[in-house]
Amino acid sequence: MFHPIHIPFSVPTPAGALPRFVYAYLIATPDTLILIDTGVAGSEEPIFNRIRQIGRKPEEISTIILTHAHPDHIGGAKVIRESTGCNIVAHAADRAWIEDPNRQAQERPVPVFSHLVGGAVTIDQVVTDGDIIKIGDGISLEVIHTPGHSPGSICLFLLPDRDLFSGDVVPVPGDLPIYDDPIISIQSINRLRKLEHIRHLLPSWDDPVEGRAAYQALDDGLEYLHQIHQAVKRIWSENPAISPQDLTKKVLPTIGIPEEMANPIVVRSMIAHVRAMEKR
Ligand SMILES: [Zn+2]
Repeated sequence: MFHPIHIPFSVPTPAGALPRFVYAYLIATPDTLILIDTGVAGSEEPIFNRIRQIGRKPEEISTIILTHAHPDHIGGAKVIRESTGCNIVAHAADRAWIEDPNRQAQERPVPVFSHLVGGAVTIDQVVTDGDIIKIGDGISLEVIHTPGHSPGSICLFLLPDRDLFSGDVVPVPGDLPIYDDPIISIQSINRLRKLEHIRHLLPSWDDPVEGRAAYQALDDGLEYLHQIHQAVKRIWSENPAISPQDLTKKVLPTIGIPEEMANPIVVRSMIAHVRAMEKR
C-alpha cells in the first residue's frame, strides 16, 4: 500500500556538489493518496511521476503529513499544495518553522536553505501523540511523537499493516549526526523499539527495511548515538575549554566522517551532547 519515492538532490559545498537523497512515501488506497513528506524544492516532479506510474493522478493527493520541519521534508509542500489543494498535517512543535521558513533559516542556518525550500505553507491540522488519522477502508495512521531530531518530529504507524514511517528520528551510522537532543532521541527510539511486529521501517535518509532488519536499524541508530556521546565525553573531558568547532572536528573522524564535514548544523549536534552532559 505504501510506495517509497527516492528523491536525489545535491547540496552545493565549497568542495563541489554533494550528492544526497531523501525518501518521501506515498500511501495509496482506492479512494485517496496520502503523501508523507515532500522532499526538497522541485520534488513534485519525481513525486507526481511516481503517482502516474502507479496509474493514479497527482490531484488525488488529499493530505500531506510532514514528519517534521526540516528543508528536505517540507521543500516541495508549497507547489504540491497549490496544484492539488490538499490539507497539510504536522505536529505543533514544528509548526512555526514550517509556516515561516525564513525564521527557520535564521534559527537553524542549513547551508543553501533557500535552494531546498519552495516556500511557506500553513498547517491545516495539528496532530499530537496518540492521534489516529483515519484514511478509510479500515486503514489508519497512528501518530507517535518522537522528539530529539526536532521538537515536533513524529513517526506514523500504518495500521493494520504495521509499517512505520520514521522520518529522521533514527540516525544512520556513517551519516552526519543531526539532532537537537541526543538523549531525547535515544528515548524516542527506545519507544519505537517497544512497538511489536513492525513490518517495515520506512526512514527518510535510508532505504526501507523489513522485519528483523527494522529492529536492527533501530538498534544501530541507538548504538551510533551512544558511540558519538562517548566520543564527545572523552574529548570534552580531556579539554573542557575546546571550542564547539574543534570538538566537532575531533569527534567526526572517530565515527568515520572527515573533519571537513563539520558544518554549523553538525556543530549544533555536538553542543547538544555537551549540554546533555552538563545537565547531569
Ligand atoms: Zn530532519
